[in-house]
Amino acid sequence: FLSISAVRKTFGAFVAVHDVTIDVPKGEFLTFLGPSGSGKSTTLYAIAGFQDPSSGDVLLEGKSLLSVPSHKRNIGMVFQRYTLFPHLSVAENVAFPLRVRRRPDSEVRRKVADMLALVRLENFADRQPGALSGGQQQRVALARALAYDPPILLMDEPLSALDKKLRQDIQTEIRRIHRETGVTILYVTHDQEEALHLSDRIALFREGRIEQIGTGEDLYLRPDSEFVAGFIGNSN
Ligand code: ATP
Ligand code: MG
Repeated sequence: FLSISAVRKTFGAFVAVHDVTIDVPKGEFLTFLGPSGSGKSTTLYAIAGFQDPSSGDVLLEGKSLLSVPSHKRNIGMVFQRYTLFPHLSVAENVAFPLRVRRRPDSEVRRKVADMLALVRLENFADRQPGALSGGQQQRVALARALAYDPPILLMDEPLSALDKKLRQDIQTEIRRIHRETGVTILYVTHDQEEALHLSDRIALFREGRIEQIGTGEDLYLRPDSEFVAGFIGNSN
């Protein structure tokens, strides 16, 4: 479905991502786990189209995405924090990707209501983002990212700014949304508990390479290296 094929990213002489190859089946929840600076975000940005890879390719259903501009890739994105438009209401934030695509008003209204119900913020449609908690803002960002039914959702540490309780609540929500929508999710975190809780598979990054990829159980019970054992076994 989504093929990350020998993606390499260099910054000058520094190789941030070394020929990473992953095949992601449709509907999978795949997590990029690994220490700071290991190349997780850089790989995600190559898929999103924010930064082209230096070499390699990203293919969706066999077609290269590299020539497709970022905003036309139909990939939903959620970042760490502060990604909402502050001057737009919650409803208009969620509606934004639909308005850009010139969908009819009736469809926009229906979809916004559906999405706010999905993230359980039905009663917040008319608020401004500044009047929401961090967790509520992330749920709006999630609703907005999903509003136009993208086949792929990329999330880069969407919960790292939140406290533990809220993080767990939204993790549960993300799992439910994944189950209900069937969207393919690529999720970045450096929190191994979060990775184990959410993922179908985990790609553990180390210095720009994938050290091991497999189910949480694979990495936990059958680590390929001491690095994997140490990273998965540790509690951060
Ligand atoms: P974190 O968990 O801290 O977000 P990460 O795994 O997402 O880390 P990346 O952001 O992908 O790491 O960065 C990988 C490496 O590439 C790092 O060493 C980083 O300093 C380097 N890097 C990233 N972007 C640039 C850039 N624009 N110019 C130079 N080096 C960069
Ligand atoms: Mg990062």
